[in-house]
Amino acid sequence: MSTDEKEIEQFMHGLMRRNPGQPEFHQAVEEVAVNIIPFVEQNPEFKKARILERMTEPDRIVIFRVCWEDDEGNIRVNRGYRIQNNNAIGPYKGGIRFHPSVNESILKFLAFEQTFKNSLTGLPMGGGKGGADFNPKGRSEAEVMRFCQSFMTELCRHIGPDTDIPAGDIGVGAREVGFMFGQYKRLINRFEGVLTGKALEFGGSHIRNEATGYGVVYLMEDMLTHAGNAIDGKVCTVSGSGNVATFCAQKLIELGGQVVTLSDSSGYIHDKEGITQEKLDWVKDLKNIRRGRISEYADEFGCEFYEGRPWDIPCDLAFPCATQNELEEADAQKLIDNGCMAISEGANMPSNAGAIKLLADAKILHAPSKAANAGGVAVSGLEMSQNSIRISWTPEEVDTHLRRIMASIHDQCAEYGEDGDYIDYMKGANIAGFRKVARAMMAYGVI
Ligand code: NDP
Repeated sequence: MSTDEKEIEQFMHGLMRRNPGQPEFHQAVEEVAVNIIPFVEQNPEFKKARILERMTEPDRIVIFRVCWEDDEGNIRVNRGYRIQNNNAIGPYKGGIRFHPSVNESILKFLAFEQTFKNSLTGLPMGGGKGGADFNPKGRSEAEVMRFCQSFMTELCRHIGPDTDIPAGDIGVGAREVGFMFGQYKRLINRFEGVLTGKALEFGGSHIRNEATGYGVVYLMEDMLTHAGNAIDGKVCTVSGSGNVATFCAQKLIELGGQVVTLSDSSGYIHDKEGITQEKLDWVKDLKNIRRGRISEYADEFGCEFYEGRPWDIPCDLAFPCATQNELEEADAQKLIDNGCMAISEGANMPSNAGAIKLLADAKILHAPSKAANAGGVAVSGLEMSQNSIRISWTPEEVDTHLRRIMASIHDQCAEYGEDGDYIDYMKGANIAGFRKVARAMMAYGVI
């Protein structure tokens, strides 16, 4: 075992001891530690200041009860969270997730990842994440509103435009952001940019909805250009059918990609003819308005629906855009065997450790989520800027900023991830994201 491997094992041992029963958090930290510990060994000032140890201990974790009444008059109790991970380079920033699987481990992994992602955007934003184990599926509009109001009644004490600025994530879209912003405004009696992902009428930014999915494709475009290739004509598999997946598919279609799959938690559709913009508009209506299942697409457009995940379908480019750990070793092997050349991750931590290793060994271009899906938070950062200066940029202006930020993320990954003729984008993203936060932490001394 090399010295680096011993250091990583020792570090992970300590982390797992301090954070028992939190497998997603362990996984997210290990994914970073394998690159950062060797980097820290070469930069002993970071080792002496124990920067990685400090970055893996959140600044604070707020846990609270969320009580609300359902339409039948029953009292319901959920658990709400806000993890404020690190504010070395700016106020805490990160989404809110409403999903029955939400727990401390998942939110700690997301807040930790967010710290690196926000650093990569070049904007002054620290890392945070929050949510609740509330399942909005099957709930009426009035129930979702009452839940959001109750959640914000407690959360409002811990956030603010210069403290912590939440946004949406799984289960939290424009509707939920609207309910939460309304409640914050009512309680605090100030109209201020405390949430991003707002509607355009009350301080939202153009392109925020599209930004994460578009950014995932922009980073893919930059990886392919760097490798002398392009998206035009490539067969693309996309998982998920929510915000990130649909706008990822939209940009791919615009750039000439042939998108053949979309999925949800019940399975995936395989449309060999390719998903067109018209079909995609139908999916957005299905998911955002009618709140139906992706299997209905197969009935509507006469294609196949399968249970499971879409990684068996041969493709040139793959875009996991649903949730964490949706791409495991067997899926990675299938992608490699079928000749997939590149992957850009829309979801947070969609690939598990075994899959990441297989893809790297096969030298598949692989943009990790902390780089590839940073477009969403980048435009959230731009929403904050527009709110502060009380101005609204045009869609073209915001898209130009987004394109530039994604190009800069690509270049940072390439700079720190170069490994002969291959670019290890995971390593590049980890080191570039870490370096900026670490230097800020060093400047503050021991706090
Ligand atoms: P949405 O809620 O809009 O969509 C989530 C999609 O993933 C749905 O199709 C959902 O299916 C599917 N999904 C959720 N859980 C599972 C599961 N356990 N197994 C299979 N499919 C599942 O969320 P977003 O599109 O906003 O988020 C998707 C991913 O992107 C998440 O990892 C999120 O953290 C990440 N992300 C989102 C950003 C944003 O701006 N929205 C920014 C950066 C990252 P179903 O409808 O059946 O639940």
